[in-house]
Amino acid sequence: MTISSYVITSDFISACTVPLQAPFLCSRQPALIQIQFADDMQEFTKFPTKTGRRSLSRSISQSSTDSYSSAASYTDSSDDEVSPRDKQQTNSKGSSNFCVKNIKQAEFGRREIEIAEQDMSALISLRKRAQGEKPLAGAKIVGCTHITAQTAVLIETLCALGAQCRWSACNIYSTQNEVAAALAEAGVAVFAWKGESEDDFWWCIDRCVNMDGWQANMILDDGGDLTHWVYKKYPNVFKKIRGIVEESVTGVHRLYQLSKAGKLCVPAMNVNDSVTKQKFDNLYCCRESILDGLKRTTDVMFGGKQVVVCGYGEVGKGCCAALKALGAIVYITEIDPICALQACMDGFRVVKLSEVIRQVDVVITCTGNKNVVTREHLDRMKNSCIVCNMGHSNTEIDVTSLRTPELTWERVRSQVDHVIWPDGKRVVLLAEGRLLNLSCSTVPTFVLSITATTQALALIELYNAPEGRYKQDVYLLPKKMDEYVASLHLPSFDAHLTELTDDQAKYLGLNKNGPFKPNYYRY
Ligand code: NAD
Repeated sequence: MTISSYVITSDFISACTVPLQAPFLCSRQPALIQIQFADDMQEFTKFPTKTGRRSLSRSISQSSTDSYSSAASYTDSSDDEVSPRDKQQTNSKGSSNFCVKNIKQAEFGRREIEIAEQDMSALISLRKRAQGEKPLAGAKIVGCTHITAQTAVLIETLCALGAQCRWSACNIYSTQNEVAAALAEAGVAVFAWKGESEDDFWWCIDRCVNMDGWQANMILDDGGDLTHWVYKKYPNVFKKIRGIVEESVTGVHRLYQLSKAGKLCVPAMNVNDSVTKQKFDNLYCCRESILDGLKRTTDVMFGGKQVVVCGYGEVGKGCCAALKALGAIVYITEIDPICALQACMDGFRVVKLSEVIRQVDVVITCTGNKNVVTREHLDRMKNSCIVCNMGHSNTEIDVTSLRTPELTWERVRSQVDHVIWPDGKRVVLLAEGRLLNLSCSTVPTFVLSITATTQALALIELYNAPEGRYKQDVYLLPKKMDEYVASLHLPSFDAHLTELTDDQAKYLGLNKNGPFKPNYYRY
């Protein structure tokens, strides 16, 4: 079986699916497990989603300081004052094709990567199953993502599948220096460290793209900065690029803008809107990290506390489920009657913010909107009210309105400010209104495994797609691949899928091997 001879991952996924599903579908004949991709083109809908279209004004690089992946690092940037750009470093094999804070931290970073691997078994299983195939042989991937233990597992998976990788960080604060060192030691050309300046940020991206004798043919981006840089500085690189895989709302939005303007010159995959990404990143991840972020910063006890959550979308639903489970009294604000009704059905009181603002102990925004919490609301809050944001960027709480002479700001902990009114009232503002979980907690490795597996499959798909399958446009991953990503994660739970009988499949009009839902299904 050769990769180039088929409509990409059809064979690849089938090959992977057989052994993967064997434990719980042992009665299946291999022939029944083959995934048919004949009609997949219909599934590649152009999909300018609500999130994709959201207006996202950016300064330098909003995504470089603001994104959703795990950003925790156990190292700080103060181990010495010399910029990594001014250091001469080589790894144990004599290569200096990288720029990291301190290559000597490689062993520590390797341990971090191994710990992450424990909870990324789906990605590891993809790595093992596809290793013989090498579906990315010849791929030269230039990447710009968070550089954490979890993304290191992704990068090393891509290398194991045959790719050469050059990597920079999409966020100036989120690099785990020890992990970057471990990647450099393993031979990955990585250019990143925690606490980069803006100039460093673009320099690192440039070092990844601009290399004599090496030209990228795939882009993996998180935030669109790398793609933007290539467009601006090296447009000729796109002659060789087979596709862009983009992970973030911001980056996807930019791709749709390029597409609309007729300027997108290669196919792109919108990973952000994959079901497996959105549901897990927004709903389940926030369900866990809201509590983590609040606890770490404030030590608050939730039982009996009155909390108002603004926005009952995926993120809001996740936050509310966690808060309710810990005994908090939760109020919701919504603009959309459907989401408001869902909140009612889930047992929450739907209110206007002004109705409860005097009594609540915690205010959480997750709307993706701006000025949801205004200075007027902040003026009316009670003493010690905690205010934080789980939605996009730092526009949801009008933090700027708090920078007035009559209010005193007191930094009481990292990421925790007390804003003090003249009468002594204090409002506890977390992460200056930026994303709470990005700034103050970690994102569960398992969630990142789902995203990383989706990214890997999207790269394999675009890289192997026959000429003409994808045009110069933005595509969603086919539902079968979404289902495949989910199925790779089921063994972690020893979950046993029920198999459709022939009769049932006929009755429902489905292929026994999926896809199991139409594209408009909402999960
Ligand atoms: P969503 O569109 O599903 O939900 C947002 C909800 O807010 C909608 O139901 C909308 O009707 C409501 N809303 C809008 N304006 C409002 C207002 N003024 N008052 C009350 N409700 C209002 O989006 P989502 O998936 O829940 O994401 C929400 C935000 O969180 C987005 O900006 C997204 O980028 C961000 N996000 C954060 C994380 C994280 O880890 N913190 C993860 C994923 C997404």
